[in-house]
Amino acid sequence: MSTSSSAQHASLLDKQFINNQWVASSSTRLLDVMNPYREERIAQVTAGDAADVDAAVKAAQQAQPAWQALGGAARAKYLDGFADALEARRDSIITLSATNNGKPLAEAGIDLDDAIACYRYYAKQAKALDARQGELVSVEMEGVEARTYHDPVGVVGLISPWNFPLVTSAWKLAPALAAGCTAVLKPSEVTPLPELVLADIALEIGLPSGVLNLLNGDGEGIGAPLTSHPGIDKISFTGSNRVGETVMQTAAARTANVSLELGGKSPILVMEDADPTQAADWVMAGIYFNAGQICSATSRLLVHEDVAEALYAALAERMDALTLGDPLAEDTDLGPLTSAKQRDAVQRYLDLAEQEGLTSVRDGQHRTLPAKGYFLAPTLYRDVPVESRLWQEEIFGPVLCGRSVASEAEAIQLANDSAYGLAATVISGDSERAKRIGRQLRAGSIWYNSEQLVLPETAWGGFKRSGIGRELGPWGLSAYLEVKHVIGPA
Ligand code: NAD
Repeated sequence: MSTSSSAQHASLLDKQFINNQWVASSSTRLLDVMNPYREERIAQVTAGDAADVDAAVKAAQQAQPAWQALGGAARAKYLDGFADALEARRDSIITLSATNNGKPLAEAGIDLDDAIACYRYYAKQAKALDARQGELVSVEMEGVEARTYHDPVGVVGLISPWNFPLVTSAWKLAPALAAGCTAVLKPSEVTPLPELVLADIALEIGLPSGVLNLLNGDGEGIGAPLTSHPGIDKISFTGSNRVGETVMQTAAARTANVSLELGGKSPILVMEDADPTQAADWVMAGIYFNAGQICSATSRLLVHEDVAEALYAALAERMDALTLGDPLAEDTDLGPLTSAKQRDAVQRYLDLAEQEGLTSVRDGQHRTLPAKGYFLAPTLYRDVPVESRLWQEEIFGPVLCGRSVASEAEAIQLANDSAYGLAATVISGDSERAKRIGRQLRAGSIWYNSEQLVLPETAWGGFKRSGIGRELGPWGLSAYLEVKHVIGPA
């Protein structure tokens, strides 16, 4: 089957993917899937329920022992199969993703390419896992032999958000399958279409039945029963703090393993030795990419007072040059927000900014928005008080808040003064200085003189309220493995 087959059953997708079959949901409720640029419904998916979850978990439980027994090298072939099949469907997936999500084509391409790189990376990790089984541990006690094994956690529930559907699901599914886990994947009900292609691919590459089950539905119908299902050994969740905390509480009731990738309010520090025009490019990339709907958006700008005016001028120039429009048009820089709900949530922060009398460098008054679509103007406030909710809370839209600082120490102190700790960027003319500053920041990913550079080999995850655990790299695989020792007389 091809992506177009997903797009076809996209018009009415009232089935669930369980045990390698599209089966009727026990729910008759449907959810609308929108094109946020045209404000039109492009599909309806089933609002699945607890009975669907139960069937999917049973399928995954049945499939798990044989999938584990296959060994890493055999599982790697399927992971490479996912990567090859995604690559073969590149154009149609990018179009589908831009249509459902509202992200410009180039950004939809990044979502897909990063997902492909992730499947390929974990194919290699799966092969390497075989060689790590039964490694001898060096122990001081004489006459004892101890060996280490890495067993899969078991059946995993994977819950994704809507902002980067392909990559956020790949970061979970690829290491889970590499480890020997079987999965129930729940895409976001806002952007299910790109992830549904994974079911077509599972059939095409002959993935054994029950290894990947994919359920459509909302948080209440699928997310909550998946999290509380006794057959789920681990939940890996990416999304908001509000839901992530509920997931953690639910999992705690049966001491189930959880990984959480949550929100962020990441800082970007522009030091006095930075070239303000070059820094402006990094600042722009850190906040207006995907219309600011990115967990690691560097949405708090801390700029040294010596370069603040030059930086704001360069930013205003760049913001005026942004083209807002059809995500499918090649020259579009910023698409609409992904949903009316998200547009309204961001608008509430813009209203608050007006009430607080924040100073804007650029906002909705500086441009005319397209007549249709969930658009908001790229916005930049300067001199934002640290007490403002706009400074402290994740807005998840094209809104940048700036403050001037008088010293490196003040920049570091303010950067760390946040409930979150997902990422941070340091821009300096001296890269050694930028690295040194970066070491003092409490966040999982620190970029210096670059932005949003995420590679499959390097860890992804947050300090503080940004989450628990790490995805990507060997750490991402460990999240789906249990370490076991076999020990006795030599
Ligand atoms: P969300 O929390 O509203 O939804 C995420 C997923 O959880 C969806 O699939 C949703 O259906 C499901 N869900 C809702 N209620 C549930 C429940 N009670 N139990 C289980 N699942 C439930 O988040 P969102 O709006 O889709 O995504 C935006 C958020 O995701 C932002 O806060 C962003 O920072 C975060 N995010 C984090 C990362 C990261 O890597 N740290 C990456 C992307 C997005």
